[in-house]
Amino acid sequence: MASQSTIDLLGRLLAFDTTSRNSNLALIAEVEAYLDGLGVPHERVTDVCGEKANLYATIGPADRPGIVLSGHTDVVPVDGQTWSSDPFALLRRDGRIYGRGACDMKGFLAVCLALAPEMVKADLKIPIHFAFSYDEEVGCLGVRGLLEALAARPVKPLGCIVGEPTDMQVVIGHKAKRSLAAVARGAGGHSSRAPEFVNAVEHAARLVTAVTEIGARLAASGGRDELYDVPFSTAHVGVFHGGTALNIVPDEATLEFEFRVLPEEDAEALVAEARGVAAGIEAEMKARDPRTSLEVRIKSEFPGLSTDPSADIVTLAKRLAGRNDHAKVAYGTEAGLFVEMAGIPTVICGPGSIGEAHKPDEFVTEAQLAACEAFVRRLIAHCSA
Ligand SMILES: [Zn+2]
Repeated sequence: MASQSTIDLLGRLLAFDTTSRNSNLALIAEVEAYLDGLGVPHERVTDVCGEKANLYATIGPADRPGIVLSGHTDVVPVDGQTWSSDPFALLRRDGRIYGRGACDMKGFLAVCLALAPEMVKADLKIPIHFAFSYDEEVGCLGVRGLLEALAARPVKPLGCIVGEPTDMQVVIGHKAKRSLAAVARGAGGHSSRAPEFVNAVEHAARLVTAVTEIGARLAASGGRDELYDVPFSTAHVGVFHGGTALNIVPDEATLEFEFRVLPEEDAEALVAEARGVAAGIEAEMKARDPRTSLEVRIKSEFPGLSTDPSADIVTLAKRLAGRNDHAKVAYGTEAGLFVEMAGIPTVICGPGSIGEAHKPDEFVTEAQLAACEAFVRRLIAHCSA
């Protein structure tokens, strides 16, 4: 079962409502005070408003390349979810720890912090870093500032382990994502004279159809990687709004859609294709009324992850996890950004199941926390050998 210090620290982390829309500074201050008590140096990389911060800490010799343990401090909202207990108070029951973020991913952060005293006591030859970010759940935004800072440093980490929930499986790949929003502005009027106006819903619907057709093409003839549970790139429309009453030709319609793209495929080409379709529809709208438009913008994006199975960080993570297999996952993480922005080889391996994340009564099992403790203890041994 998990150690008492992991449980205690997890309880302290869960008590902060770090839903992405809130500041995470109170949690960061708590972690800083804890690290100060251990004499561990740390730094903040804040957002432009100073309301949120990444925390970067180093245990061991800072002038040598080390291993980063990385996780996000923010959690998804509990709005509209029915919880059996207070989501911001730890509940320990039947070998499980319940709370918002217990699985995704304060459990991993708690294990890292609980083992910090052992890292301090060990004679680390290779340093261990903590990289705790913000705004991961809203498009992997926060970590970018930290990675810019790391990329500019003379000594770069050897590798990074992102502790997102993988059931302690070693994950070497995830898909890239592009989230887009479109707004069709038509010209409205009484529906009895519909042909005189430009129907925003009908034009936006053509973009919906185009995205659906791109998805069908990707499924039928796009690249494939059978290590993913959906082994091809996907397209999806998740939001569509438009119109107010049947007897009014609608003057506005909005949609949101996404592409989740195998890291070996060209996400930008899919975005360009969708933009091209939208430009064609807009040209037809403007030909009928120059005041109309169909705008497409990127809402958020992150790169995919495709780490070579023979990379040193993969070999190390497999040794620490005591397993020889690896996997790829459909959900996105900050891992691809560590590679793309800072050139740090990265894998994902953390406690809990992604199937429990983002749900009411989110939990992580104590067995998974204990497995993660064993993983980090083997890392400490590796780094002090
Ligand atoms: Zn997460």
